[in-house]
Amino acid sequence: MRRAILFGLMIASACLASVAAQAETRVTILYDAFGNDPAMKKDWGFSALIEVAGKRILFDTGNDRETFAANIKAKGVDLTKLDFLVLSHRHSDHMAGLSYALSVNPTLKIYAPREGFGIYGSWLPSSFYRKDESLPSEMRYYDGAPPEVMKFGTAWQGANFETIDKTTEIAPGVTLIALVSDAPGTRELRELSLAINTPDGIVLLVGCSHPGIDKIVEAAAAINPKINLVVGGFHLVVAQDEVIAKIVTALKDTFKVENVAPGHCTGEPTFRALKQAFGSRYIYAGVGTSFALGPSPIGGERKGEAPTLDQIDQPSYRKLAAREDPFGVMAWRSKRLVER
Ligand SMILES: [Zn+2]
Ligand SMILES: [Zn+2]
Repeated sequence: MRRAILFGLMIASACLASVAAQAETRVTILYDAFGNDPAMKKDWGFSALIEVAGKRILFDTGNDRETFAANIKAKGVDLTKLDFLVLSHRHSDHMAGLSYALSVNPTLKIYAPREGFGIYGSWLPSSFYRKDESLPSEMRYYDGAPPEVMKFGTAWQGANFETIDKTTEIAPGVTLIALVSDAPGTRELRELSLAINTPDGIVLLVGCSHPGIDKIVEAAAAINPKINLVVGGFHLVVAQDEVIAKIVTALKDTFKVENVAPGHCTGEPTFRALKQAFGSRYIYAGVGTSFALGPSPIGGERKGEAPTLDQIDQPSYRKLAAREDPFGVMAWRSKRLVER
């Protein structure tokens, strides 16, 4: 029995090595709470490495320093050879491994969302506060002579942060999409998503999708309407079936997303719904999985297993799609078509 398992593992790692060797561009999932790689630890949170266009980009750092460090080592990822790190947002399940990354690479360039008095540091012009010149100087901020720009500290002093507050192309074809959540519980939370404009369309990495996966994909489609792949957490972990069905329909039929590799806070029922809807274009993305990018991203052994929507499910998705336009995406898309 043990021999059979060992043999299986050898075959599996040989297959993985050949995918890696062929692949010039790939995504590796480094942190998540599900997976089938015995070398990786599972925990709630997200981190992925994307190697594309000659760049090595780390996206998020998981939920626990030691687990993140163990998974980084298990995959042999050299954190000193990164181009930069993107921290999607300030929730601990995405940034708790940052202290480990900085212990290995203290000068690592880090992109993070800019929030007033946020943990990644921020600044404001001193003109933001009201002045009262009739007060004696000892009652005035900075004795009445404030610096032009007031800087606010970060929880990681000395780290090489660049905070982003609007969608920005940080390198040719590499864009950070900056959106703000308006969902109850995370209102005003800022989140960055990473959109890479490849020859096959946009490869989009999302952390937790607090602003809404549909809103993020909509912003990515403004860069290039051909969305090749969406990877990461779609934030539907507690969503009801109707909400899930609407999102799945929007991704598949409205935005014509070609492939999905959902993970993290996407949710178990959403994994099922996406697998049904996307079939062989659903890429299994458990922790430890690497998949090559391209016109048809090559996933692990589970790619192609998913059944397509059966005759009963199809009409109900269609009906939901036709009944309403929950996110205004259809109106948006037809407006775009008219404008063209
Ligand atoms: Zn979050
Ligand atoms: Zn999260």
